[in-house]
Amino acid sequence: MKFDTIIIGGGLSSLVCGIRLQEAGKQCLIVSAGQNALHFSTGTFGLLGRLPDGTAVEEPLLDIPKLPDNHPYSKIGVERIKEYAAGVIPFFGKYGIKLCGFNGANGWRFTPMGTFKPAWLALEEIPFFKSPDEVIGHKALIVNFAGFMDFNSVFIAEGLEKKGLSCRIESVKLKVVENLRANPTEMRSINIARVMEQEECWKEFGRTVHSLLKDEDVVVVPEVFGLNNPLVCDWVREMIKVKVLFVGTMPPSVAGIRTQKLLKKAFENIGGTFLMGDEALSSSISDGVVTSIKTRNLDGTLLEADDFVLASGHLFAHGLVASPGKIEEPVFGLDVDFVPDRNEWYDKNFFEKQNYLGFGVVTDSRFRAFKNASLVDNLYVIGSEVGGCNSLNEGSGAGVAIMTALRVADEIIGG
Ligand SMILES: Cc1cc2nc3c(=O)[nH]c(=O)nc-3n(C[C@H](O)[C@H](O)[C@H](O)COP(=O)(O)OP(=O)(O)OC[C@H]3O[C@@H](n4cnc5c(N)ncnc54)[C@H](O)[C@@H]3O)c2cc1C
Repeated sequence: MKFDTIIIGGGLSSLVCGIRLQEAGKQCLIVSAGQNALHFSTGTFGLLGRLPDGTAVEEPLLDIPKLPDNHPYSKIGVERIKEYAAGVIPFFGKYGIKLCGFNGANGWRFTPMGTFKPAWLALEEIPFFKSPDEVIGHKALIVNFAGFMDFNSVFIAEGLEKKGLSCRIESVKLKVVENLRANPTEMRSINIARVMEQEECWKEFGRTVHSLLKDEDVVVVPEVFGLNNPLVCDWVREMIKVKVLFVGTMPPSVAGIRTQKLLKKAFENIGGTFLMGDEALSSSISDGVVTSIKTRNLDGTLLEADDFVLASGHLFAHGLVASPGKIEEPVFGLDVDFVPDRNEWYDKNFFEKQNYLGFGVVTDSRFRAFKNASLVDNLYVIGSEVGGCNSLNEGSGAGVAIMTALRVADEIIGG
């Protein structure tokens, strides 16, 4: 089977790249082994929250020129990053994903731990503020589903009380959700969200919460609405009639799954082919060019293309694989930038910068990969697999995924 471009991985970087290429008339195949980081997403996109030395960033586009030369943003160049950044909200909006931000400045997401964290853009329903000092309200009612353990009302109350709000916690028992409790493993965000897609269910929830209100001006609920249709969040808001904050739960992330589904649908609607649940296992490279790959499910079928894009993620997604002494990229055997001394890989203090998160595939200035120090001319690397940055430490995860995806797509298109 022959395509113009084959992309390995089904996460944010892969889908953005695939959509851009399909929009430009390239025939693309995405091979996706399984879950990706969007399934665990906060519903916000980071572009740059901190410089590598730890300095907090307020305006990412102003601080990007301070990054080292091998950082993916430096390879793209600040002017192109500005151009791509300006297009992100319209790009996602075109496919039904509404993002909001503060004219390029970082905003503040209210976390499930009751704290505030910086981010660049947020999905519309995510509680996102210009400043952590912004007045949210005066009295908050925090509502959980009885028996739902993945939403911590107490942490949220503590966080809001630190901001001067007085808080009251309630739990609601809805018959449709109670059915999930027959088996405790069913009481997960995604299953509640499936139930809450049904009109009679979100209406019953909205009515019940409204009836619990005393004099509160803010209601906090778990972010389990709008799995397929983000309008459900608006409808719940209308029923409750005071300000509603949909606060994230433990994974899976309902907002992230919806984003992934919408991007996948967009890719397929414009003619892309998505191989769900398949895994690239091996590749053929000759004379510095990838000629084909083989996958688990299509064993025996060579998948050929003019260009290949590796978007298979970091260690978390098995795009990179660690053994005691090394980090490897398993599909092509590409050169990976890592520190050989394993003692240098991590800090025992979990909350400190973890060096292993900065390991990644070595690329040239156009994000082409190297194997045994030789350039592979038609193999590009995008997203969290690219070396040169520590996205968790910098708060640049989605930004690196989107910017490298757009840059490589343009490179392939010829821009
Ligand atoms: C748990 C978690 C939560 C995060 N939350 C946020 C957040 O809220 N905001 C933010 O800005 N950043 C976040 N990040 C950072 C994240 O890295 C980026 O935001 C971005 O989503 C990464 O996308 P990606 O496409 O590079 O990789 P991934 O999303 O990791 O996707 C990689 C994909 O490749 C597939 N794959 C792997 N090997 C193969 C193979 N051999 N064949 C086929 N497919 C394969 C995997 O199954 C997966 O689908 C998070 C990261 C993690 C790990």
